[in-house]
Amino acid sequence: MIEFNNVGLVYPNGTEGLKNINATIKDGEFVVIVGLSGAGKSTFIRSINRLVTPTSGSLLVDSEDIINYHSGDLRKLRTKIGMIFQNYNLVKRSNVLKNVLAGRLGHTGTLRSIFSLFKKEDIGLAYESLKRVNIDEKIYNRADELSGGQQQRVSIARVLTQKPKYILADEPVASLDPPTSHQVMTYLKKINKEDNITTIVNLHFIDMAMEYADRIIGMRAGEIVFDGPVSEVSEKT
Ligand code: ADP
Ligand code: ADP
Repeated sequence: MIEFNNVGLVYPNGTEGLKNINATIKDGEFVVIVGLSGAGKSTFIRSINRLVTPTSGSLLVDSEDIINYHSGDLRKLRTKIGMIFQNYNLVKRSNVLKNVLAGRLGHTGTLRSIFSLFKKEDIGLAYESLKRVNIDEKIYNRADELSGGQQQRVSIARVLTQKPKYILADEPVASLDPPTSHQVMTYLKKINKEDNITTIVNLHFIDMAMEYADRIIGMRAGEIVFDGPVSEVSEKT
């Protein structure tokens, strides 16, 4: 469970990224955050794995306040949170298998000579993960030989290999065309349901949010302006 209690975040230049945020995200939920560019969606998501640090309030992940976490705690926190980014964040010159194995890094606990250390089980897990997003036939291709949609599926496989409790997806379809966007959202939703991984996704477009979300959080200027099930959004529009 994730609990924001009066969370504020002021960037060093004085910009208020988050203002008095209160929200509880229960285990297994599929939450979509919508809002215009600059609304604070990315700041909200990045607070949860502490890529940015709130400056007030408390932010509990599994009942522990993560705001004052340091190195060891942060590594543990990030091991249970899988991140998906707009630009996939793959190592372009590495092949798909190596990229997906990077999901095991937090578990193997070393940055040294990573690829020689993976066990057969890790490679099996990587292959199974690639199969789940239907991209296993590209396992030995270089990441930069794949289309955007294929790269995003590899990044989902990387997250699956991590076996996280949470998935945070920061604008995962913003660089993709509509059919490919739907494909990626469908995989994210399927994984949420099958593996019961709590998932938070940022999206620009309300129509796509309505199609996939269990719950929508609307943000504007660092604040939550709507929080409820899709059915409540429909009534108002
Ligand atoms: P996105 O909109 O895709 O999340 P970014 O995370 O790069 O893109 O930036 C989000 C917003 O934050 C942009 O409006 C950008 O101008 C602003 N921003 C990012 N980094 C800084 C910074 N160091 N100082 C001031 N504004 C920043
Ligand atoms: P969104 O993801 O909804 O586009 P962001 O969370 O990226 O919004 O940004 C929220 C606000 O914080 C914006 O005003 C943005 O310009 C600002 N911002 C984001 N990152 C930084 C940063 N590193 N330094 C200063 N301001 C930032």
